Amino acid sequence: MNKNFKTDWQSALINAVTDPEELLTLLQLDLKLLPEALASAQQFPLKVPRGFLARIQKGNMHDPLLQQILPLGKELENTAGYIKDPLKEAEVNPTPGLLHKYHGRVLLTLTGVCAINCRYCFRREFPYEKNNPGKTGWQEAFQYITNDPSISEVILSGGDPLISTDDRLKRMTDLLTTIPHVKRLRIHTRIPIVLPERITTELITWLNALSLQKVIVLHCNHPAEISLPVKEAVQKLTDAGAVLLNQSVLLKGINDEASTLIALSETLFDAGILPYYLHKLDKIQGTAHFDVAPEVAQKLHETMLAHLPGYLVPKWVCEQPGAASKLSFNSLELCTD
Ligand SMILES: *Cc1c(COP(=O)(O)O)cnc(C)c1O
Ligand code: SF4
Repeated sequence: MNKNFKTDWQSALINAVTDPEELLTLLQLDLKLLPEALASAQQFPLKVPRGFLARIQKGNMHDPLLQQILPLGKELENTAGYIKDPLKEAEVNPTPGLLHKYHGRVLLTLTGVCAINCRYCFRREFPYEKNNPGKTGWQEAFQYITNDPSISEVILSGGDPLISTDDRLKRMTDLLTTIPHVKRLRIHTRIPIVLPERITTELITWLNALSLQKVIVLHCNHPAEISLPVKEAVQKLTDAGAVLLNQSVLLKGINDEASTLIALSETLFDAGILPYYLHKLDKIQGTAHFDVAPEVAQKLHETMLAHLPGYLVPKWVCEQPGAASKLSFNSLELCTD
């Protein structure tokens, strides 16, 4: 194929808004915000696909989708306890591009790139440049998986793994399907939510043809993220035989009200997605203003339990370096620091 040929989704990606001034203008926001937006975007660039932007209410500084992508001066504040690698992932990184933290599953960081830059993200500090496996590195990663028969699940993650071309994804899974003990492929992606154009016929053909069991874990934080094109994309993924789950991050000013979380669960299920995890924010530098106090989180969780069927209540989890799994609500006292 001609290397310069761009598919529609690749064009949509290239056309994402990256200029803070354009963002403020398009959304009819106060240009007084520009200096701080520019300063924060220097640390971690602004990036938002136009389709996602269209779901943001114009002129509303408090729009929950806007709050996830707008660079603010608060990000430049240093808050005690918020550091660059709170999860100590450098210690569970046996070969470049591969994280083996929990029994039975490994996570491959296919890319450092995403279709959107979420301001609260751990990725703003992850040293992807140092962790880019290159060709021989990937061979090492596949060798690692081949050598450990306890690994039954491989998680494609990132960044966002669906940034990869269909060819690259196919090459990866062609290799993975030759490893007999690998039964499941999991994909951690926010792309069906933020860039549903990516769910093309070619991608669906690839998924359909896979002999592995397929789980797709989406990342959606607010019901307003689920537009009609998102629902259509999700339907195609379900039709291709994937189980669809969702993880959210509990974020102050975005989804820290019980009514929002309840509506999120209902809207997800309506689209064929089951709530999986509600994450406590990782203590990454520059994200302290998104943190929700544990007591507040606990109340929110109780309210959800009292209003929803059990299967629509996501597990409330946090990560603790060295733990054998993510820690859930019942062990909350272990993750309140
Ligand atoms: C979160 C995570 C997983 C997946 O954990 P589940 O509880 O199975 O969803 C796997 N590997 C790493 C490194 C992770 O951070
Ligand atoms: S899509 Fe996920 S990995 Fe990418 S910036 Fe957003 S939260 Fe981070």
